[in-house]
Amino acid sequence: MHRSIERIAGDSEGVSYEFPVLRFEGTDEAAPSAYLQAALHAGELPGVVAIDALMPMLARAEAEGRIRGAITIVPWANPIGRAQYHFGEHQGRFHLGTRTNFNRGFPLLAAPDTALLPDTTLATPDQRLKSRLLQLSLGHDIVLDLHCDDEGLPYLYIHTSLWPAMADCAAAMGVDAVLLWNEDTDGTFEGASIMPYQNVPAEVARFDRRVATTVEYRGILDVDGELAAADAEGLYRLLVARGVVADPALATPGAFTGTVAPLENIDMMPAPKGGAVVYDVKPGARVAKGARLAKIVYAPGETGGSTEVFAPQAGLILTRRSRRIIRAGEDLLKLVGDKRSDDARSGTLED
Ligand SMILES: [Zn+2]
Repeated sequence: MHRSIERIAGDSEGVSYEFPVLRFEGTDEAAPSAYLQAALHAGELPGVVAIDALMPMLARAEAEGRIRGAITIVPWANPIGRAQYHFGEHQGRFHLGTRTNFNRGFPLLAAPDTALLPDTTLATPDQRLKSRLLQLSLGHDIVLDLHCDDEGLPYLYIHTSLWPAMADCAAAMGVDAVLLWNEDTDGTFEGASIMPYQNVPAEVARFDRRVATTVEYRGILDVDGELAAADAEGLYRLLVARGVVADPALATPGAFTGTVAPLENIDMMPAPKGGAVVYDVKPGARVAKGARLAKIVYAPGETGGSTEVFAPQAGLILTRRSRRIIRAGEDLLKLVGDKRSDDARSGTLED
């Protein structure tokens, strides 16, 4: 394994950011290659500890000559967000300097060619970081961006062009759900990893072996030794299933049996009032249409001081908020409905 350090210039003299990149060389140039990054949203750490648990497995495979394809790993992809504290609270989702989501604004290239990346000499540091992460990842057949939700089940976002071809990956990782998306105009890292392949010749796109996904490893508090070990095994199974690592002892993943739904089926349930959320449901619950999802106490102790929110359709509770204070209009949870949502906002990439 080879370790190198990337440096991202800050926007004033004397300020710069660093992050390590870990690389395994493959023994077979024809084998698929893989890129893994975690904590682009810098406080989302289940993927960080999953990578930490994966590394000894890869080191062993390397010692035994079983790493076939090149593997590039960025265990903590966002040194800018990692260092952002605002009044003692970590802020890893938005760049404080530009108020931009760290997982938006990636360049959406017309082809997988790093020469098309914009010049970021005079850009903001977060744009420099995004450009560099995309440059590091482009050209790999498999690109995994490890995130987590607030509270939730493990699930994947996958572009429709890769489904059902990626069902083996979902099965290997043991996630509970897959959300399929079509359009990314905001430039998520996943969008920037798959859109460049949509209009290039088939021998460049290689959809037979391409993998790109945002992995949502449950909730922000699910940073746990047992879960990390299980997630590392899932990542390892994916690398073996796709031929990056050879391991004849490992069984091929079975069929994916989790929930698969287009983003248009997600109901986010905006809160009608600001207040204290009292949930009736947890991630993993199946609900019927009309089931009570939550009560919001907005005028405590007063008659009629609370309001209730009901399921607009039957489905699976995928996520909910980790904090219990809410403003009017903020989303309460993700309900993966059995059919298309009536909420006009549904269909957009949420991470
Ligand atoms: Zn995230």
